[in-house]
Amino acid sequence: MVTLEADPRLIESLGKIVGAANVIPTGEARTQYANDQWWYAIAAAGAGQPISRPDVAVRPTTAQQVAEIVQLANRERIPITPWGGGSGVQGAANADRGGIVLDLRGLNRVRSIDHKSLTCVVEAGKVCKEFEAELNEQGLSFTHYPASTEWATIGGSIAARGSGVLSTKYGKIEEHTLSVEFVTPTGELVQTPSVPRHAAGPEITQLLVGSEGTLGIVTAATVKLHLLPKKRVFGVVSFPTLASGVEAGRRIMVSGLKPPVMRLYDAEAASHSLARAVETPLDSATLVMMFDGEYPDLVELEAARALEVCRECDGKVLSPSIGETWWDRRYVFYYPPYAPELPSIWGTIDVVADFEHIEAVYAETTKAIRAVVPSSFDLSLTTHLSHWYEWGSMIYARVKIPKGPDDLVEAKELHDAIFRAGVEAAMNAGAVMNDHHGVGMRLAPYMSAQYGTGMDTLKRIKRALDPNNILCPGKLGL
Ligand SMILES: Cc1cc2nc3c(=O)[nH]c(=O)nc-3n(C[C@H](O)[C@H](O)[C@H](O)COP(=O)(O)OP(=O)(O)OC[C@H]3O[C@@H](n4cnc5c(N)ncnc54)[C@H](O)[C@@H]3O)c2cc1C
Repeated sequence: MVTLEADPRLIESLGKIVGAANVIPTGEARTQYANDQWWYAIAAAGAGQPISRPDVAVRPTTAQQVAEIVQLANRERIPITPWGGGSGVQGAANADRGGIVLDLRGLNRVRSIDHKSLTCVVEAGKVCKEFEAELNEQGLSFTHYPASTEWATIGGSIAARGSGVLSTKYGKIEEHTLSVEFVTPTGELVQTPSVPRHAAGPEITQLLVGSEGTLGIVTAATVKLHLLPKKRVFGVVSFPTLASGVEAGRRIMVSGLKPPVMRLYDAEAASHSLARAVETPLDSATLVMMFDGEYPDLVELEAARALEVCRECDGKVLSPSIGETWWDRRYVFYYPPYAPELPSIWGTIDVVADFEHIEAVYAETTKAIRAVVPSSFDLSLTTHLSHWYEWGSMIYARVKIPKGPDDLVEAKELHDAIFRAGVEAAMNAGAVMNDHHGVGMRLAPYMSAQYGTGMDTLKRIKRALDPNNILCPGKLGL
């Protein structure tokens, strides 16, 4: 592979494509794109040994420029790592093999809105929060509300197969993404069909969703919009055990009720995290629900029926004002001064399983994590279930160690031991290793175990589409 740092000719060629002002030289690029939000990427950068070491960063503003950059990279065999908001927590956006970081935030236009079909063509670099604000002004909503909404882009959400807080009713990003415009790893611009459904062969759109930059660069997407709801109703219920809350959640999902928000916190998460957010003492498993819609009477009825289900499962209904406070303060704890900082070690294991396996996944994962952390490290382990499906749910274990070892190698060993124990326990108990944060560098070592012989299929797709291994080489375990 050529290194751009040593080759001003290539920097000049990139400047001809995007304009010299949009080419960021090595020094600046290595500062601006030193890490995404994976704990180890942050810790390594903090220790002066960043894992992301781009030779150059480029800021295209059109899909055509993206195609030309990819063609150039193919001719010169230079790795490219797309960069959205850099908010990923699995290490996917780090340019660990150097080359070009392709910052896509210059592709940030809403190209068109179809008010009849309620669809929208939006460019990949649009930041979720800005997109939502523009839509809300027109009485519309994208309904993809990740907690990282201030940073995450539409393209990054598609590439990492993200999910937002309203997913239980409105779906994950794969449901929002109707079609994509993308640049192939060899530099052709492709548009996938944009219709409600079709039987014109396999669906290329979904090949791009979750591909984390390895199979193509999304430059725009046609996404589903919804009417901004006229009514929101909250319901909060405490349960004697997590299992009774899971059973209530299961019955709600299989009955066809559709709460956009259904967050079930285990006793630790309720008493530590949720109680702090809603400023109310809580000491057992707690469910926060929100129902919304166009017709207030239907929304009220749906909420009432869901609360009935909860009572049948030994739930005790609490004040809905707790839910309203949670809604207003839901992002506060992801940002300073509350967000974790070094020398802490932190991260999440968000896995997904069907209802048959969900309780075993919870029990085995939490047991395995606790077993590998020496008591001197004062582990905080809180778990919630917040993205529900008709036949299962996501389980999200949040790990925090207030002060890890000073030495970076020792700290990484502890981090890796925790995540290996948690991920392997979850997979052995019947879960898939990730629900909505993606694979990145952190989960790449588990891809073969996750897919078995299917991994060879993925590798063959990668080789066929990207013969020169230009896009995010090594990522996704490919
Ligand atoms: C505080 C916090 C809260 C979070 N909450 C949530 C949450 O609620 N839900 C959730 O799903 N995630 C959440 N995340 C994780 C993160 O925000 C998501 O993974 C998000 O989808 C990443 O988007 P991004 O634009 O920042 O992508 P990046 O981190 O920049 O990139 C992610 C991956 O996508 C690739 N990529 C980026 N853009 C493109 C493109 N246009 N085409 C092809 N590949 C591309 C990158 O190369 C990389 O592999 C959270 C993160 C933080 C730090």
